[in-house]
Amino acid sequence: MKTIIEPFRIKSVEPIRMTTRDERKTLIKDAHFNLFGLQSDDVLIDLLTDSGTGAMSAKQWSAVMSGDESYAGSPSFYRFQAAVKNLMPFKHVIPTHQGRAAEAILFSMFGGTGKNIPNNTHFDTTRGNIEASGAEGHDLVIAEGLDPSNLHPFKGNMDLARLEAYLQEHGDTVPCVMITITNNAGGGQPVSLENIRATAALARKFGKPFFIDGCRFAENAWFIKQREEGQSSRSITDIVRDCFAVADGMTMSAKKDAFGNIGGWLALNDDDLAEQARNHLIRTEGFPTYGGLAGRDLEALAQGLTEIVDEDYLRYRIRTNTYIVDKLDALGVPVVKPAGGHAVFIDARAWLPHIPPLQYPGQALAVALYELGGIRGCEIGTVMFGAHPDGTETPAAMDLVRLAIPRRTYTQSHADYLVEVFEEFVEHKDSLTGFQITRQPDLMRHFTCQFERLAD
Ligand SMILES: *Cc1c(COP(=O)(O)O)cnc(C)c1O
Repeated sequence: MKTIIEPFRIKSVEPIRMTTRDERKTLIKDAHFNLFGLQSDDVLIDLLTDSGTGAMSAKQWSAVMSGDESYAGSPSFYRFQAAVKNLMPFKHVIPTHQGRAAEAILFSMFGGTGKNIPNNTHFDTTRGNIEASGAEGHDLVIAEGLDPSNLHPFKGNMDLARLEAYLQEHGDTVPCVMITITNNAGGGQPVSLENIRATAALARKFGKPFFIDGCRFAENAWFIKQREEGQSSRSITDIVRDCFAVADGMTMSAKKDAFGNIGGWLALNDDDLAEQARNHLIRTEGFPTYGGLAGRDLEALAQGLTEIVDEDYLRYRIRTNTYIVDKLDALGVPVVKPAGGHAVFIDARAWLPHIPPLQYPGQALAVALYELGGIRGCEIGTVMFGAHPDGTETPAAMDLVRLAIPRRTYTQSHADYLVEVFEEFVEHKDSLTGFQITRQPDLMRHFTCQFERLAD
């Protein structure tokens, strides 16, 4: 059979409130053309993020009911810990309320002024926590990872030659080496098992602990199984174990590949570091057997971790993304290729060349997708990265729109609808105009800034 069906039935539904184009034009104008300002029930298909937006299974919801809310020693913690250790055999597992809390604890130990921390690409909260500690983060992804149309199978790989030179140059100022799987900020592109091992070996050679930001570990393992020599007949669980076996610890957002609506963890092998981390946890998150979570959340995550490595799920998950990317590509829409794990990226600068970068082609496309089809995506370009602390503004490296796909939430007809919206767009795109920013905060302006549409 050619069609890969959703490997689930739907038992509980959330209605989508239908809106018309005219209504949406008013709604987005009232939100000053900032998609973060919309109420989510004014959105038909919400592709703002895949974080915490997945659908939990019947088994997860029933696990929620067995959550034990004891302050210390809850059996829910032990079930959660066993589920993590089954995949990632670290000695210490420390629950947190989100991935960024795990990062904050990690960099309270490893960060600090003068320190340098390499990664394939730091995610923005990772970089934020590193910089808040006074340290600097550096991105050393392979060159292919920065070319939107290069078809390299593992565009998230670490550039090993650059990493070695970096470790030589920065010496004692490097407290640890990190790698992010999949490479979220680089388009959800995977990292090969070979590259994870080689990065670990380099870290070891220089005496540095090696940490994995494992948010999308299952999607990454699926790509390894599909694309890496010698891996096709292995189970996802075995591949996942191999990835983490070479690491000294990990950070995790359980809102991604653990099917949680909230949650995260920090895992470590080193006893002294774990003690230090738990002391920090007690001060900022909670007692070590619940971290920042309720017992019911720990139960949902424990169950979610058994479901995320299911091959039928992963085949469907990655296929959804590839399906959309292939169809958009066939329409002539410039998309980042090959399809990554969790999101579709459209190169708005290339597609709307008549809108200069400082008039925000990504924002123009994101607003138009909402007006035309009720689809909410996210500009990742000059609005997000173009402003500097001194008040000046320059174009970002790229002007992309990200359509992040929530897990198990939408169906193929939603994907077909999305493609139809783009089909219609092909006709009108040259009439789109850019935007100017009329109000903005000093930091992270994309969340709250206000826009005005430029007249054509
Ligand atoms: C989401 C994410 C984080 C942060 O996790 P939160 O749960 O949102 O705090 C860190 N790294 C990567 C790669 C992520 O995708």
